[in-house]
Amino acid sequence: MISMIADQFETFLFDLDGVIYLGDEALPHAVDGVNRLYEQNKRIRFLTNDPRPTRQAVASRLRELGIRVDKEEIVTAAWATAAHLRREGVTTAAAVGSEGLRTELRQQGITVTNESPDAVVVGVDEQTTYADIRRATRHIDQGAQFVGTNPDGAFPTPDGPAPGAGAIVRAVETSTGASPTVVGKPEPLMFEMALEGTDVVQNAVVIGDNPATDILGAHRAGLTGILVADEAPIAASSQDFTHPDEVIRSLSGLFSHTVTPWDNPQYSWPADIRPGVGAVILNESGEVLLLKRADKEQWALPTGTVERGEAVEEAILREVQEETGLQITVDRLTGVYSHPEQQVFSYPSGETVHFVTNCFLCSVDGGTLEADQDEALDVRFADTDRLPNRILPMHPRWITDAVEGTNVTIA
Ligand SMILES: [Mg+2]
Repeated sequence: MISMIADQFETFLFDLDGVIYLGDEALPHAVDGVNRLYEQNKRIRFLTNDPRPTRQAVASRLRELGIRVDKEEIVTAAWATAAHLRREGVTTAAAVGSEGLRTELRQQGITVTNESPDAVVVGVDEQTTYADIRRATRHIDQGAQFVGTNPDGAFPTPDGPAPGAGAIVRAVETSTGASPTVVGKPEPLMFEMALEGTDVVQNAVVIGDNPATDILGAHRAGLTGILVADEAPIAASSQDFTHPDEVIRSLSGLFSHTVTPWDNPQYSWPADIRPGVGAVILNESGEVLLLKRADKEQWALPTGTVERGEAVEEAILREVQEETGLQITVDRLTGVYSHPEQQVFSYPSGETVHFVTNCFLCSVDGGTLEADQDEALDVRFADTDRLPNRILPMHPRWITDAVEGTNVTIA
């Protein structure tokens, strides 16, 4: 017998709105489907990004629909944020948002205060004002950790869209220049908190109706993601993190479909994609210019980012001048490199960027070789047959492509 999704996993993480209910109505097969999983002793969690209600309130609503759920099985953005803060050792926090958010913080043993709090938790409710944004801004300015409950810019109401916590988080982000830790979907933290206490991520599956939050968040957390929808969305690539591993029309599909579990690729999902430039600069002896990058103490070709209003050739001339003091001539384009396994970089700031890098063969035109102390620890020409061991993994190939290739390499 071919196993069904219901048999393939032990833990089921359900999104609520659009999966279990829509407005006040349970969706077809949702209550039956969940109760069937309970009968099979599956571990179930219900996840919502709404930072306003308490877990108790969400549980009551589900019980009214006929799902025998316990408060402990509910994961709201407010609860997950409070639980995350407790895990981080935070004991005092200021809160922007609902009474439900304050309750969840207190239940994790966190004192809600505006007297020098360790953290500021930014959510939203109907009463949120300019004074709240100013209060959060001042606390962060004085060193409090900045935490957002969830990143949603807006949520639907019968009268039209209403600003979500993300709108307030971004207001505080703009006024402080600080980057928040955000907990709700599609951030992986929400799923990590939902799975706290379980050890096997492979045994868990996420079921949601939103590719950009439920499915992306599942995959960022290393989990299989199943979309409840009438048809499959179109994927940008086979490894598009927003692409579901399976699509079902309703939860009855859990008992008739199978899924090939998500296989985590070797890179993090990038927040941004940027055009980059790289230079293979040869001297008269045919040696290649390398610089030792300050961030990882690795040798690398000079590289950089194309800035707004700049042509790629201008970008590489500027980057090389800034990083090495040399003026160069661009001889030809030798490669365009974009494969995410090589071209996605995660920085200590938490930023993850996918670069599409244009690499050029160049020669020295003038200037004096000198490492820019902010970017490079050292700079020197190296024999292309005897490159240093600690070199950025893809750069030996870029050098070979430039020195030996006759066509532009596209990889
Ligand atoms: Mg939903």
